[in-house]
Amino acid sequence: CGIVGYIGKKEAAPILVDGLEKLEYRGYDSAGIAVYADQDIVVRKYKGRLSVLEEHLNNESIAGTLGIGHTRWATHGEPNDVNAHPHTNYAGDIAVVHNGIIENYMKLKEWLATQGKVFVSETDTEVIAHLVDYYYKEDLVEAVQKAVSRMEGAYAIGVISRKNPEKLVAVRKDSPLVVGIGEGENFIASDIPALLKYTRNVYFLNDGEMAILSENSIEILNELGEKVEREVFEVTWDI
Ligand code: GLU
Repeated sequence: CGIVGYIGKKEAAPILVDGLEKLEYRGYDSAGIAVYADQDIVVRKYKGRLSVLEEHLNNESIAGTLGIGHTRWATHGEPNDVNAHPHTNYAGDIAVVHNGIIENYMKLKEWLATQGKVFVSETDTEVIAHLVDYYYKEDLVEAVQKAVSRMEGAYAIGVISRKNPEKLVAVRKDSPLVVGIGEGENFIASDIPALLKYTRNVYFLNDGEMAILSENSIEILNELGEKVEREVFEVTWDI
């Protein structure tokens, strides 16, 4: 339902939670974040309001500067902690947030299970993490491109990997996603209000496009993997 992502030099967790707060109007049943910290991906996700997540986060500090966050409106699998996003592969190398529905997730899930992938949730989203893991060789971008080529349905996704902590990868198809352009930091969000505290310069992604963010760069690729140029859009309104 709501997606945010951050890569930069600041602590990611508070920025993710703050962004999710700005997307609250959409309604949701669970909230969570995944942050790359100490060479690991730390996931915290809970059924309920954002305040439930915030309370848990108040008791700890997650010192990582790359992360993704999500507020969920359940379509596949009841609202509970396990079904909340982000989802990871079993080893916890890859974390994914997703808006929308993966129509062919059952087929993919059955096939991935025959490949030894172990599922823990009832969501369609979890197949994305396992697909990326299945295709992962040494580059997250390539793995996400291959995963997406197998996915049918509507989606906006944000993906991070502890094996490629220098980047954040996002893709959209029939579900909104914008990229926020910062200085020494960059963002993704499912809607502009999540970004306005940090930047007014955004890129809109077209259907099928992928954005590859690092601290200091943003690359946009089309469905064929070709680099595309995008004009910066300056947001002039306030929330
Ligand atoms: N289909 C996914 C789920 O049920 C994502 C729902 C959403 O857009 O929040 O977990």
